[in-house]
Amino acid sequence: MTQLADASNPNVPVEARRRRTFAVISHPDAGKSTLTEALLLHARAINHAGAVHGKAGRGGTVSDWMEMEKARGISVTSAAIQFEYADAVINLVDTPGHADFSEDTFRVLSAVDAAVMLVDANKGLEPQTMKLFAVCKQRGLPVITVINKWDRPGASPLALMDEIQNRTGLLPTPLNWPVGEAGNLRGVMDRRSGDFLRFTRTPGGATAAVSTRLSAAAAADEEGLEWENATDESELLDVEGQNHDSELFLAGDTTPVLFCAAVANFGVQQLLDTLVEFAPPAEARPDIEGVPRPVASAFSGFVFKVQSGMNTAHRDHVAYVRVCSGEFRRGMIVTHAATGRPFATKYAQQLFGRERTVIDQAWPGDIVGLVNASALRVGDSIFEDEPVEYPPLPLFSPEHFRAIRPVDSSKHKQFRRGIEQLDHEGVIQVMRSELRGEQAPVLGAVGPMQFEVVEDRMVHDFHADIRMEALPYQVARRTDKASALLLAPMRQVEVFTRSDNTLLALFSTPWRLQAIHRENPDLVLIDIANAT
Ligand code: GDP
Repeated sequence: MTQLADASNPNVPVEARRRRTFAVISHPDAGKSTLTEALLLHARAINHAGAVHGKAGRGGTVSDWMEMEKARGISVTSAAIQFEYADAVINLVDTPGHADFSEDTFRVLSAVDAAVMLVDANKGLEPQTMKLFAVCKQRGLPVITVINKWDRPGASPLALMDEIQNRTGLLPTPLNWPVGEAGNLRGVMDRRSGDFLRFTRTPGGATAAVSTRLSAAAAADEEGLEWENATDESELLDVEGQNHDSELFLAGDTTPVLFCAAVANFGVQQLLDTLVEFAPPAEARPDIEGVPRPVASAFSGFVFKVQSGMNTAHRDHVAYVRVCSGEFRRGMIVTHAATGRPFATKYAQQLFGRERTVIDQAWPGDIVGLVNASALRVGDSIFEDEPVEYPPLPLFSPEHFRAIRPVDSSKHKQFRRGIEQLDHEGVIQVMRSELRGEQAPVLGAVGPMQFEVVEDRMVHDFHADIRMEALPYQVARRTDKASALLLAPMRQVEVFTRSDNTLLALFSTPWRLQAIHRENPDLVLIDIANAT
């Protein structure tokens, strides 16, 4: 023991403390890409003095990252962007959204220490945001709320606070408060110092906006009634106890709120400052027994995402690992907890923009992509020296279902092997029923794009052409044997056994599910996303 402790690297706790690893949860079009670019612009502008006035315009690395995703669609993954800001190292882990919304989107949330909930001021909390928020809540992740597009008219800040509180159960504790109505953004009041941060519009938003800080007295002079309104509303929040409290935030009870206009780079620096000041650093993670493994222990991590076929020239297989403890050094030999086998990490990389940078070193909180790690699957742990196993990643409730068959029945072996492999990698959920037979599995997915991945992989990797037929079900619930017997004969219901032996009942619509549950309140019907 003493020897291990002596051998441990003193830089590990220091590096872990600098890390802020987070993901943005939002609905398509809320401004995630715009915010990502703005964050990078700020970080770059501040770290490289001169860039503010230089040509650090849009269209840089991040755009490429997005373009690449668009152009190459499903075969490309964007894992994490890392940048330095102040003394911190920020890891922004991408949550695939839009059409490629999938279980991966949810799994990313197990690899981060905090989430930024990005809300379009005029649209409020939209469905995808709520789905992702539910996972954050279940995991106890601290959530920072960012209200975007405040440069557009229409929204009421107090009404938005009510909506957040009512629908998430979190008490909103605004750190800044808008001065000037939505659409006439004058700036924000920094609620802790009472200062006014004036909004300076920069043409095209191509450079990091330099916000001017004014005292409350100066703000009152300049903004008059607008400032007075903001002060009144902020006092109302004081009375309601809506002020930031680190302990309550970290416990998942409150959410600090920022108002911004990502397109104009306004409020973005406040978000970076908030992440550095309040978001938790990489800390000890509980293992499968619930015992926290200190960050200073030997290297360990777990796979939260596996992606195949990223490089079309050679259909490689990348396992993304969240580093939980110790120092990762490229080339180190680690142990794969599931098999006890050694695993060489010769090909480690960080995905950044179009380029894959080979990384030599990583610390707790960082994301590492291990190439050709075909033995590693989603949820697997790897470690050096001191064994550890992290809890398995939960499976989420599928909402799309397809019956799948090989086109050529003589290819049944390839077909079976392919389905097994994709199930093993966590690409898709595989279920079967006695009714349909062993040879006719049904696939379940969180997002329909997962089926395209299946089709592509089956044809190219397993040489089995397939036929898929959409099934008319929209919602799944976990059930037990006794309930399954009662559910089986019902209309618009079908019962399956998933490959992990969970019994799943599929329902045609959420209303059908509700009606059945109302008529049969004793049936066991568990929402999978909320089950442990
Ligand atoms: P994503 O789908 O969440 O990645 O959203 P995008 O970043 O692509 O933004 C969607 C649209 O909203 C684009 O047309 C953006 O220019 C626009 N947008 C993003 N942020 C703002 C903002 O602060 N104000 C306004 N007015 N538009 C914005």
